[in-house]
Amino acid sequence: MDYMKTKGRIFDIQRFSIHDGKGIRTIVFLKGCVLRCRWCCNPESQEYDIQTMMVQGKPKIIGEDITVREVMETVEKDRPYYRRSGGGLTLSGGESLCQPDFARALLRAAKEMGINTAMESMGCAPYEVIESILPHLDQYLMDIKHMNPEKHKEFTGRSNELMIENAKKIADSGMTNLVIRVPVIPGFNDRTDEIEAIAKYASQLRGVTKMHLLPYHRLGQDKYDGLGREYLMRDVLPPSMEYMKKLKAAAVRVSGLDCQIGG
Ligand code: SF4
Repeated sequence: MDYMKTKGRIFDIQRFSIHDGKGIRTIVFLKGCVLRCRWCCNPESQEYDIQTMMVQGKPKIIGEDITVREVMETVEKDRPYYRRSGGGLTLSGGESLCQPDFARALLRAAKEMGINTAMESMGCAPYEVIESILPHLDQYLMDIKHMNPEKHKEFTGRSNELMIENAKKIADSGMTNLVIRVPVIPGFNDRTDEIEAIAKYASQLRGVTKMHLLPYHRLGQDKYDGLGREYLMRDVLPPSMEYMKKLKAAAVRVSGLDCQIGG
């Protein structure tokens, strides 16, 4: 059980979450991301380095090196809740694939303990890395942010080609529980035709069980101040529920997929 000693870097563990997968879940947030999305609500996730962030006027160290065994000791505590609700462990971030050995070992440990696994990820890694993780994963919550490579690059710092290609490969791998998640960001991807383009692509992927439309929110704004960074979305308002319903109807119309607002 050497993989239980694998070390990785996290910045949070949230217990009793009812988002990001089925049932009651423990979410482990891994540090490090290759994108720099302008709307990111977890800016403290982006750098792999351990950082100091001001929280309510006090410095807080963000980032902790921890073994798989130590994480699983926390995850195991809620096993009765997972059993009753169909929940389990979800990896989030950041981008879990930036720490592939750690992510793989965590998912493997959970599966061997009989705990359901999910991973929230935009699939920005060589496909071989993803392929090595899939056998330990029950549900892949995959972000697709935009179908246009230039616009994707303008707002996230990277083009989307690798991620779009990986979505197809993941679908073709036989993964039977693939959820396509779209953060709906005003001025970036909130036009009907932009959401329709993602929905059409999602409908062509085998194994897609659902689409989630995640409305932009500003809950991460204070964290930018705490890190001494500028929040570039200060003037952007979250979409109304009425508008989200319109986008959802458009996504369903072109894809026939089951689609929900929120995660
Ligand atoms: S992919 Fe997610 S964690 Fe990474 S910068 Fe974008 S929103 Fe933040």
